[in-house]
Amino acid sequence: MREVRHQASLKDQRVGFVPTMGALHEGHLSLVRQARKENDLVYVSIFVNPTQFGEGEDFDRYPKPLERDLELLRKEKVDVVFTPSTLYGPGHGTYVTVEGSPSVEGSSRPDHFKGVATVVSKLFNIIQPTNAYFGQKDGIQCITIKRMVREMDFPLTVRIVPTLRESDGLAMSSRNTFLGPQGSPEREAAVILNEALLAGRWAFKDAEEQGKTITAGGMKKIVELVVAMEPLAELLYVSAACMDTGAELPEDGVCRKETTMISIAARVGQTRLIDNFIVGDEGW
Ligand code: AMP
Repeated sequence: MREVRHQASLKDQRVGFVPTMGALHEGHLSLVRQARKENDLVYVSIFVNPTQFGEGEDFDRYPKPLERDLELLRKEKVDVVFTPSTLYGPGHGTYVTVEGSPSVEGSSRPDHFKGVATVVSKLFNIIQPTNAYFGQKDGIQCITIKRMVREMDFPLTVRIVPTLRESDGLAMSSRNTFLGPQGSPEREAAVILNEALLAGRWAFKDAEEQGKTITAGGMKKIVELVVAMEPLAELLYVSAACMDTGAELPEDGVCRKETTMISIAARVGQTRLIDNFIVGDEGW
């Protein structure tokens, strides 16, 4: 990998890098296409990272359709696909922690972001990208990686790409296949995440038009009420966090345009789903 990257450096070529866990869908491909527009070469990694899965999570059943993924990337004319079988030698003991970040999401999955920050920094060191691409769908992940890059002086730019959705608003995710096909009860129920966030979005817009503000507590209540309408969905958390630091807003803190991110996690059947929106963003 180092030698391949060295050759690109000799030619002064910009490398756009898209880290993934495979089971690719249009959401991943939108990152690849954005990388294509902004770089000379596009590198993609496929690695289901064990350190970001907690106990009892879906590491063992995470889908791994490698041949299909490679075919999709071939069609996108991706220059390099990096598919390590492991990134951790025996006795691996070095981890990267972004302190004080994602309080709510963080406490919901204690070691998840440590695993993400560790694998992403290893991949950055191996690939040495000019630009690295992440999806807004994993909102707190975006905040964590941006902070890590800023605070650890990684010489690259983090680019965030908007969330791609199914026609009914469900955020695309490799885990959506666990819900069953379109029309099945869990697949239908999963739309509630987007609907709850839309209700929050409208409430913010409404308040803004009337020259009022909306608190983090008020916003969370609205989202909670909508999710409660769907019996197949179990709400895990709603968070209102600062976009720069990931710090949770106090209940009476005011949701601020373009700096507050509302995120949600819910379980539908056995499947854990997440989604988010940035307050005041007209993005979808
Ligand atoms: P994953 O394979 O789930 O680790 O995702 C790899 C990258 O694709 C991450 O940066 C995700 O945020 C991004 N991604 C996943 N789903 C979507 C989506 N629906 N829209 C945009 N980006 C996405």
